[in-house]
Amino acid sequence: MPVYRAKEGVLQLPDSSEEWTKEFTFIQAADCQLGLEWVMIESEHDVANTDWKNYYETSTWEDEIRWCKSFVSMVNKMEIKPKFAIMCGDILDAMPERWPEVRDRQNVDFQRIFKELDIPLVCVCGNHDVGNSPTQETVDKYRSEFGDDWFSFVCNGVFCIVVNSQYYEDPQFVPEIAAEHDSWLCEQVEIAKSGKYQHSVIFQHIPLYVETPDEPKIYFNYVPELRAKMLKQFSEAGICKIFCGHYHRNAGGWYDDKMELVVTSAIGAQLGKDKNGFRVVTVQEKEITHEYVELEDL
Ligand SMILES: [Zn+2]
Repeated sequence: MPVYRAKEGVLQLPDSSEEWTKEFTFIQAADCQLGLEWVMIESEHDVANTDWKNYYETSTWEDEIRWCKSFVSMVNKMEIKPKFAIMCGDILDAMPERWPEVRDRQNVDFQRIFKELDIPLVCVCGNHDVGNSPTQETVDKYRSEFGDDWFSFVCNGVFCIVVNSQYYEDPQFVPEIAAEHDSWLCEQVEIAKSGKYQHSVIFQHIPLYVETPDEPKIYFNYVPELRAKMLKQFSEAGICKIFCGHYHRNAGGWYDDKMELVVTSAIGAQLGKDKNGFRVVTVQEKEITHEYVELEDL
């Protein structure tokens, strides 16, 4: 089926029921990032002397096509059909402000592969999807490609909040959009806090932390002050899981005894020792558990 798109802050799934009925699964994945493997292979060579324009224009993403197809085929074969799959950012590698034509070609392949998925695919916006410093133009481009870049949805009594973490990483060119996003997020947190839903979870690209809540700022996490404030706010609202990507390695850990942050490695290129894969999440009445599954090579 075609990739699902949110409109006016809401995404409608086939099962958008507000009431909890029984245990179910969904798939969480990240960073299929069509095109990154090619860049990584080149970056092992002579970066200073690379003609990046020519390089991007002639680039391919055969590896990612193979990995994405493996993902689609494995999910389609699952005996217990997950209710949805969610891709937590860096859907395509080519930055929209630098290589829009390459990005468009990557998107054609992405849409072609993922429309074969038998369950709804929900997309989360990553830094490669709006640029490291988003602008009105890159945000508009993302919305035309994938629909809203922040929204919420409900599935079988579970409240799901989809954040665009890039507005917390670098809002300098889009202060008004970032402020609008932040006040929307506060409203969603209040909904979670109301206790109306069985569970409340967050999906975003950049992890608030990768190993421990008090670690220093690195490329892959939030600045400590903002992180501490948001983690406290999320935990007090009863949010039980924060699912992220961006790190291209499996990581994460518990914030307190109620809220866990889960960092899932990439479907695409790896930066650590994990194999390409995705996460199967099981939502039970009292708890949510998850397991990382490696891709089968096609
Ligand atoms: Zn990223």
